[in-house]
Amino acid sequence: MPEEQLRVILLKYTPDPEETIALAGRLCYSRVGVPQLREKLSPEMRERLLKLLLEGGHHSPLEHVNFTFVVEGISRACSHQLVRHRLASYSQQSQRYVSAKDFGYIIPPEIAKDDELRAKFIENMERFAQSYEFYVERLRAKGRTREQAQEDARFILPNAAETKIMMTMNARELIHVSNVRLCERAQWEIRRLFEAIKEEVAKIAPTVASYMVPKCDDKFLGYCPEGEMSCGRVPTRKP
Ligand SMILES: Cc1cc2nc3c(=O)[nH]c(=O)nc-3n(C[C@H](O)[C@H](O)[C@H](O)COP(=O)(O)OP(=O)(O)OC[C@H]3O[C@@H](n4cnc5c(N)ncnc54)[C@H](O)[C@@H]3O)c2cc1C
Repeated sequence: MPEEQLRVILLKYTPDPEETIALAGRLCYSRVGVPQLREKLSPEMRERLLKLLLEGGHHSPLEHVNFTFVVEGISRACSHQLVRHRLASYSQQSQRYVSAKDFGYIIPPEIAKDDELRAKFIENMERFAQSYEFYVERLRAKGRTREQAQEDARFILPNAAETKIMMTMNARELIHVSNVRLCERAQWEIRRLFEAIKEEVAKIAPTVASYMVPKCDDKFLGYCPEGEMSCGRVPTRKP
């Protein structure tokens, strides 16, 4: 049974994403159409426009740009947190159709770095895998199809079980989700996931990526709204 590592692949994205956002924003305030605006739009103007839109709260132009990611090596616990973000599209590997025999799993770092806890964790995973196979075999012997057996046997699988998911999110939602999931209060796994997603976005849309920050960043609130739960990195009061 393999221990899995996080993998994020940016599979597809709207071509020229930052130009698309800037043109959508510029159109709102211009007498001329997009073809003429496009001719005049320099990289400096594009960056300035993007900042104006983002900091002025005019965020709908960001919705014209989509990013499709393939995510592998995350736990079911993490994917459950991810899919709570409703303004996105998801396709996730099925535990009904795909056998979880020898399933992969994620070990939380705090457990992984302690030899005893790690060994116990792996032992537990092996036990879950054996139980899974036991139920599949017994249910098959009772005349259930493979799919029927798997859909019941999966109830034994842990939150640590690895999953693969494809996700399409627009730039506005990517920034919103980063604001909450890059916060220290979010769990380590989804935080790592959004750090990796941000790295991919930065390669093709660096200005958008620069706004993929926790909500306490100066680009947004400039203070922490978490009160007693605050990590203490920035003041909890409004400046
Ligand atoms: C640190 C942390 C701890 C959490 N703990 C828990 C927990 O203990 N239990 C739990 O159940 N959840 C928990 N959550 C999940 C959280 O409550 C949200 O469901 C999740 O973060 C999705 O965020 P969102 O609502 O902003 O949604 P998104 O789906 O990303 O939506 C983006 C934005 O669109 C708007 N929007 C979307 N749908 C609607 C709607 N139907 N009506 C009005 N506006 C809408 C909102 O402005 C929303 O912020 C936690 C999240 C975080 C970050």
